[in-house]
Amino acid sequence: MRQNLELHRLSDCIVRRVTFFNPKMTMAEVQTLPATLRRFQATEEGFRWEAVPLKHYKPEGSHFRDITRQVLFGPESGLPAELRYFEVEPGGYSTFERHEHVHAVLILRGRGRAIVGEQLFEVQPFDLIHVPAWTWHQFQAAEDEALGFLCMVAVNRDRPTRPVPEEAEQLCRHPVIGPYVRL
Ligand code: MN
Repeated sequence: MRQNLELHRLSDCIVRRVTFFNPKMTMAEVQTLPATLRRFQATEEGFRWEAVPLKHYKPEGSHFRDITRQVLFGPESGLPAELRYFEVEPGGYSTFERHEHVHAVLILRGRGRAIVGEQLFEVQPFDLIHVPAWTWHQFQAAEDEALGFLCMVAVNRDRPTRPVPEEAEQLCRHPVIGPYVRL
């Protein structure tokens, strides 16, 4: 009897694991997700969250450099948001882009620079940066120090767009951000 109960629990668990990856799960299903603790760790390659897959920043392209991505909380968390951790090696940078969705960013470690619209921010741990809709932005690590930051986005979001040649020319001539833009 007890064994049957265990088996039942096991199969129940397997069924629920299947729904784990379905973003349309119900609240009841979300509440069955296990409690987890995953720690932030220093490694030789940089700082990483344990047991969270390390991903390429983007599948391909030459418009970014030396940056990794970890999705800390994805759609399976039951929230309409995703929380990602990006780590940029010294001298690296994210894609210069804009889109309709917004970013809520918390700098976690290191030092660098954020271009947001026509502003240039020197950033340090615990700084918060809001990137409004359709605002050009780029995150850059310092030349001699890595930059690690959390970025929250909506699960349902549009694809980023990069400057067309005329926009790129104008951005590079901008008196404040022009000298720092990396395209
Ligand atoms: Mn973006």
